Amino acid sequence: MNAPQSDTGPAPKSWIAAIAPYVPGKAASDDGRPVVKLSANENPLGTSPAARAAFAEGSADLATYPDPGAAKLREAIARVHGLDPARIIYGAGSDELLHIAASAYAGPGDEVLYVRYGFSVYDIAARRVGATPVVAPDKDYGTDVDALLALVSERTRVVFLANPNNPTGTMTPRGEIARLHAALPTDVLLVIDQAYAEYLDAEDDDGALELAKTASNVLVTRTFSKIYGLAAERIGWGYAAPPIVEALHRIRAPFNITTAGQAAAAAAIADAQWVEASRTHNSRWRQWLTEQVEGMGNHGLSAVPSKANFLLVLFKGRLTAERAFQGLMQAGYATRWLPGQGLPDALRITIGTEAQMRDVARLLRDMAETV
Ligand SMILES: *Cc1c(COP(=O)(O)O)cnc(C)c1O
Repeated sequence: MNAPQSDTGPAPKSWIAAIAPYVPGKAASDDGRPVVKLSANENPLGTSPAARAAFAEGSADLATYPDPGAAKLREAIARVHGLDPARIIYGAGSDELLHIAASAYAGPGDEVLYVRYGFSVYDIAARRVGATPVVAPDKDYGTDVDALLALVSERTRVVFLANPNNPTGTMTPRGEIARLHAALPTDVLLVIDQAYAEYLDAEDDDGALELAKTASNVLVTRTFSKIYGLAAERIGWGYAAPPIVEALHRIRAPFNITTAGQAAAAAAIADAQWVEASRTHNSRWRQWLTEQVEGMGNHGLSAVPSKANFLLVLFKGRLTAERAFQGLMQAGYATRWLPGQGLPDALRITIGTEAQMRDVARLLRDMAETV
């Protein structure tokens, strides 16, 4: 047997080696000091007390595998949204659902389509299965349905659309979602990623869940990581036609969501009061921060109108996004600077507590006035 000249170990597939890893929001400064995390769109109010109690109860038995069918959780979701529990799929975060949707419907030679400034996981989900990511131009940081449709080819297998979108906070209205769906071939899977849907006012509903009830090619995904304050437990869910749900069940991990997480999520979605308080807090301080940023327009700052629990702030004056990012970090606030996603002039700031928002606005104004 010939020993190899140099042993570099097994080579990952070329399409895996081409993936730029996901960059999580920072929770500490570069010198290791803990900071307030306004970089991951978590709920600043925390978790519903009912969900915390259910979590504690659910973690009593650690030796037994979780319910592989997540029956109680599916019932709780179905009750709140008026859905058929048999058509609810669940994942270790909605991230798992985005990945298995790409795996089930796309592979080498296929195309996965999404809009520029879309959620960064779509690129990884496409490349992971050897498919080719195709990126459509945006319109004012939001989704341009015509630009997406112009790029649909015979090879398109999956279209990802976050609504509201992360990191821009923009919203594609119901009529545009319907127009996109109507023009897509029915053998293309349309994934509508609604990670922030619970933050919307009723009149902004994009109709995605209604569409998923009747369409043969729509998967809607939701998460417990954002308004429900359960990011640590990694629970997402989705709704689609039975053949899609069956395909996703074949490839999800067998016990993909924990016992305590299932219990906490079922309690969280039933706690309408907590959700309402979180939505009200977010709307109020998102509007306040937007007005503060617009008030710094003479310094080149502006805000992309947001429907989510964060604000994309643009820096076109002397104060750059990079400098603002570093200044806020120095002062103890981690935000998200996004040069890797083609947004070197922008910071994404999660809506935090009142005190945090007042402090961040004051810091931005000080920096803009003194730079
Ligand atoms: C946060 C986020 C998710 C995923 O969250 P999970 O924690 O994996 O459920 C999905 N899509 C978008 C657009 C997000 O911002």
